[in-house]
Amino acid sequence: QAKSEQGMSYRFFDAQMNEDLKRRKQLADALEKAINNNQLNLLYQPIFNMTSGKMVGVEALVRWHSEEFGTISPEEIVTTSEQAGLANIFNHWVLTTACKQAVAWHTMEYFVAVSVNISPSMYTDHDLVSMVEEVLESTQLQSQYLMLEVTEDTTMQDIESSPHILRGLSSLGVSLALDDFGTGYSSLSHLKSLPVQRLKIDKSFIQDLFDSPSDLRFITTILQLAESLGLNVVAEGIELDKQRIALISQGCVLGQGYLFSRPVSADSITQLLIPQSSCVDKLQGVVSNM
Ligand code: C2E
Ligand code: MG
Ligand code: MG
Ligand code: MG
Repeated sequence: QAKSEQGMSYRFFDAQMNEDLKRRKQLADALEKAINNNQLNLLYQPIFNMTSGKMVGVEALVRWHSEEFGTISPEEIVTTSEQAGLANIFNHWVLTTACKQAVAWHTMEYFVAVSVNISPSMYTDHDLVSMVEEVLESTQLQSQYLMLEVTEDTTMQDIESSPHILRGLSSLGVSLALDDFGTGYSSLSHLKSLPVQRLKIDKSFIQDLFDSPSDLRFITTILQLAESLGLNVVAEGIELDKQRIALISQGCVLGQGYLFSRPVSADSITQLLIPQSSCVDKLQGVVSNM
């Protein structure tokens, strides 16, 4: 009796697993098609100097609405592409699209810098340096306008080769940011060995700023650390004016978050860039309210 019940639940589990595997395979196939047919979309979220109100750059963020599967989150796009061996073509698409867009802005004389997220497996399993070099060449973007974001965690996974990979990227003239900083437990000596220019404080710290005194102390420590290493800091996920005010008072100058702007289309960014547009006035209004 017990045995056959076990058998039943095992078969049920098996069937469920088959369904999951089938869905994952179909999703991966759909993703591959979407990448090849240019059906993914990039939005851009502005990064602001919170004291001057000026936009200092934009971060490209992928979006995908599949006819078959509906809206798939960036996290699921990234993990699906990693599992299905599509990390290469996915990152190539994101890089190329973002670089082309930056060149389009430069042609309009808006010299926007664009930040692009790099998938963890790209960083270790592929020749990222050659890919970035090839994309800069094919899009003709000047390398100083490209910043690559790798998570602090990713650089910790491969502590031996990280400095080497990042130096290779630096030698192309692109800048580097450690994303989701504070969640990856990197040591001071690790940090010192990495040729990065920017730390992006993970949004979890910004969101808990007022509930958790330790998060405020942590942010203060990151800012001191960054200053001693000559790095700039971006606070991510700023939603409230009181968060902005607290961050500025701690000496954090750069910020990104829904308070300023959600990720928006390239055209909306262009509107922001046009001088005297109502959008810019609105943003400067926010910043001068302090
Ligand atoms: P991330 O690089 O840390 O990006 C910041 C995330 O925070 C984005 O989520 C952004 O939409 C969100 N965000 C910005 N401001 C706020 C705010 O004020 N409040 C809240 N709650 N969230 C805010 P998104 O677009 O869903 O992307 C999630 C993650 O997926 C990214 O985290 C990044 O790790 C990854 N990702 C996104 N686009 C790409 C891509 O093109 N390539 C790769 N490899 N990874 C990507
Ligand atoms: Mg990022
Ligand atoms: Mg982040
Ligand atoms: Mg993240």
